[in-house]
Amino acid sequence: VFGNPLWDSLRVNYRDSLRSPLFPIVLTVSSYFVICLPFIICDIMGDRWPWVQRFKIQPTRRPTASTLLHCTGVTLHNHAFLVLPASVAQWAWRPPVDLPVQAPSVLELVAGVIGNLLLFDFQYFIWHLLHHKIRWLYVTFHAIHHNYSSPFALATQCLGGWELVTVGFWTTLNPVILRCHLLTTWIFMVVHVYVSIEDHCGYDFPWSTSRLIPFGIYGGPSKHDVHHQKPNTNFAPHFSHWDKIFGTHADFSFSVAKE
Ligand SMILES: [Zn+2]
Ligand SMILES: [Zn+2]
Repeated sequence: VFGNPLWDSLRVNYRDSLRSPLFPIVLTVSSYFVICLPFIICDIMGDRWPWVQRFKIQPTRRPTASTLLHCTGVTLHNHAFLVLPASVAQWAWRPPVDLPVQAPSVLELVAGVIGNLLLFDFQYFIWHLLHHKIRWLYVTFHAIHHNYSSPFALATQCLGGWELVTVGFWTTLNPVILRCHLLTTWIFMVVHVYVSIEDHCGYDFPWSTSRLIPFGIYGGPSKHDVHHQKPNTNFAPHFSHWDKIFGTHADFSFSVAKE
């Protein structure tokens, strides 16, 4: 199979690290900060980089130093009190996993990543809808994520603990339910971190997912930006079909920024 030489060298050279139950956590946390970094730099450069700023969804609104600090604080707090204890528990209670001998085929890998995105999209759509429709759920758990009506990369994980735990639970459990190969699981996790940050980055670049994927199948940054401006629309994190079925779909033409 095409991917086997790469998988074999990973399997042989990094066996112990890859088998550790900590590996997926280290992978997702480090990819979060690495993927956020270029967007943070674009925000800090601001008008000094007009060729970047012309892709800003809400051109007049940029995060201030204090909002960046606030989100960093929430993220560090969540990591200290939730992610770190979860890591310790995994490390203490879960035996190291076995690495399969064969790499997944390209088709298996792509189907696995898409299947995981579709399943998470459905789960989070329901969760998200309930946390907007039921006032107590909104105020107690989800309101913190709506502090900002003009999102930016670091707002992605500006979440309450319950939301972070739910999202972490599904992204960990779903690949097991779908019987994905470990390599497929890790690639899904990094793709999921990327698209979640892209949803919040505040820029609609020519390479954004909603432009690469045709027929408006995928929501992408402009749709989720609308959710932060008009919170009763666009509940799905990735694809647009659930919002179309439930009548909660809104285009960027509704956007405050364009009025
Ligand atoms: Zn959001
Ligand atoms: Zn929301």
